[in-house]
Amino acid sequence: MVISRPVTGKYRAIKNKINVILFAIFLITPFIRIGGIPLILLDIPARKFFIFGLTIWPQELYFLHVLLLLGGFLLFAVTALFGRIWCGYACPQTLFTEIYDKVARVLTGNRHGKAGASKAVWAWVYFVWAVMSIAFSLVFLGYFKPYEEIIRDIVQGNFLTEGTLVPAPWVIFMIMSVGVAWGNMAYFRENMCRLICPYGRFQTAMLDGHSPIVSYNVNRGEPRREKKTQKVGQHKGDCIDCDLCNLVCPTGIDIREGLQIGCLSCGLCVDACTTVMGKLKKETLIDYRTIEQVTNPEAKIHYLRGRTMVYGVILTILVSVFAFLLVKRVPIYANAVRDKAITSIHVPGTGWQNGYEIHVGNLSHHDIDVRIDPEEGSPYTIIRTDDSLHISAGGYERIRYIVQYPESLGRPVANAMPITFTVTDQADPKVKKVIKSTFTFPY
Ligand code: SF4
Ligand code: SF4
Repeated sequence: MVISRPVTGKYRAIKNKINVILFAIFLITPFIRIGGIPLILLDIPARKFFIFGLTIWPQELYFLHVLLLLGGFLLFAVTALFGRIWCGYACPQTLFTEIYDKVARVLTGNRHGKAGASKAVWAWVYFVWAVMSIAFSLVFLGYFKPYEEIIRDIVQGNFLTEGTLVPAPWVIFMIMSVGVAWGNMAYFRENMCRLICPYGRFQTAMLDGHSPIVSYNVNRGEPRREKKTQKVGQHKGDCIDCDLCNLVCPTGIDIREGLQIGCLSCGLCVDACTTVMGKLKKETLIDYRTIEQVTNPEAKIHYLRGRTMVYGVILTILVSVFAFLLVKRVPIYANAVRDKAITSIHVPGTGWQNGYEIHVGNLSHHDIDVRIDPEEGSPYTIIRTDDSLHISAGGYERIRYIVQYPESLGRPVANAMPITFTVTDQADPKVKKVIKSTFTFPY
């Protein structure tokens, strides 16, 4: 397990600021409500996803698909333009590794690595990490279950599924989340980046000659000092083999061995070498360079290139599709199902009648009253006893109607005719959902 050595410098300072912002976002997001609606809540049992003011219902999962595609291509574009900055500066694995490392350093007396602290001290560290994992998992749970319900279930001791001895789903979630968080931080850590995370493996496909990477200047640095036999200054290359770049690395890799999957592009080894070389009045041997600049230091960075332009076009299309879906969104879900209990009948002197069960969902955050009518101008009439149907915010109602085709028009030749219903929000007639079904005639 790697516990990296602390370092100061330009990139460390940037990372510190970003870490504070990201950690604050992680902690407070589950508690944010705008007009009573969660900012982010993936309510899987209720099959409702609240994302920045948009409530996505099961019928609208295409919004989620477009958002996921957007996120994926944004990551590709950012990687092509700026290298693996997601890994180094924004990935939750990186953020939490730094938090757990910091706690370990404090508890072990600001030491780095496992050496130098007794087993008892490390047992204490593992215990504190477990407590942190529980606390962070509770916050994480708040992204999937409203925090009011979490507090209520804890206070009321609702740890079991009602009427059974099976742990409640949120308790199972907590057990898994704490296990993964603690196991990850106590054992997996850098191996998550080096061996498990697929994104690290994608990087070769996403980087090109103009993508920045962290690299070591072999020409200047080598041959490095022979630590055991040479003093500083007795070697040809500039690298004094102090190992600091390796010790500060959160994944424990030696960047002098070249670009590796484990390199998160975090820049901490740049800070380390800048400090060491600064003392020798020399420039750092490790820095951000494009892959082309590694072999040709004069090479210019071209941000506008084939790959980035393709990503730009795809992102523009996806944003447009998302905006279009958003503008076209009708906050009413409706469906008409033939009512099997009321078969198609002919009432002499009146006309032909069919029964329907109309299902209406309110996808908005306020109560609505809707009116259901056959399409304007069509021959059908609804035999109704009510003028409107009340549906609470986020609610769902079913109503049965008998629809009549008038005798005066005579029986059509076809045994079935299309029928269209409109479901209109009475407070805002522009909000209208159109549903289609068929009207049948008895033989
Ligand atoms: S090699 Fe340098 S940039 Fe890469 S992960 Fe390690 S410290 Fe960060
Ligand atoms: S920090 Fe710089 S000088 Fe020290 S080992 Fe790494 S590359 Fe060499």
